[in-house]
Amino acid sequence: MTAPVALVTGGARGIGLGISRRLLEDGYRVVANGVRSAEEVEPVIAELEALGDVMYVRGDVGDAQARDQLVTDTMAAFHRIDVLVNNAGITSPGRNDMLAVNEADFDTVMAVNLKGPFLLTQAVARHMIDQHETDSSFRGRIINISSISAVLASTNRAEYCISKAGVSMATKLWASRLAEHDIDVYEVRPGVVKSDMTAGVTEKYDRLIEHGLTLDKRWGTPEDVGAAVSALAAGRIPYATGQVLTIDGGLTVPRL
Ligand code: NAP
Repeated sequence: MTAPVALVTGGARGIGLGISRRLLEDGYRVVANGVRSAEEVEPVIAELEALGDVMYVRGDVGDAQARDQLVTDTMAAFHRIDVLVNNAGITSPGRNDMLAVNEADFDTVMAVNLKGPFLLTQAVARHMIDQHETDSSFRGRIINISSISAVLASTNRAEYCISKAGVSMATKLWASRLAEHDIDVYEVRPGVVKSDMTAGVTEKYDRLIEHGLTLDKRWGTPEDVGAAVSALAAGRIPYATGQVLTIDGGLTVPRL
């Protein structure tokens, strides 16, 4: 049987890299996307190549032409997409108080975190529908990486929180629309995860974790999120389309 193909946006750094690694170990052929040049990511891609068949496609998910190219290159190379992981994302530039958020920053965060994944899902879903029509046993899976910021308010990351709340609704919408085509859509909602995105706030979260922010007293890792994506992608959590899998060490468990 031909190995399934997974497209992972932001798949060469941080959480996305953890997901790419895990899916390669699971036997997927992986298309990893990002905004850095092929030269810049060469060492990472070389590391991934040791695990399996991987291709890097540069492109801003917030840009229509880049999204088209990403899907076209993936189909040209592998002729199928079994799994889409919408992982690429940016935090609020400058983590400014919401009274100071400017329109350009708001638009940028929405384009990368919400509009991009929505329209990439639309483009990939069309191919998945075609694949299902030619092979009724085909089951596509789309996994959106949101954040606990979808439900927790941080006033210095307002546009980020709003974008992730949007991803949460987009998951329910796509799950509803695509179920008739046997395409499952899930939201994976990470908590505080060690990556370049959180590198600037390490001390803050070290302190909070030490004082009980999470039930599991440690940072989350890209491997934790990779394990969740692996289970969903492989159908190991069946009959659960449209649902949220929260990977936050218990951070959002209400406590008294
Ligand atoms: P990261 O270390 O900053 O990595 C972000 C990734 O997204 C990089 O691969 C980057 O590409 C890619 N990217 C950024 N802008 C892009 C664009 N316009 N088009 C395509 N790719 C783009 O962040 P991370 O912590 O791994 O975050 C990954 C996802 O998890 C994000 O959606 C984030 O919101 C979410 N998340 C993170 C945390 C956390 O604590 N870290 C918690 C909850 C949710 P390059 O590799 O080329 O730079």
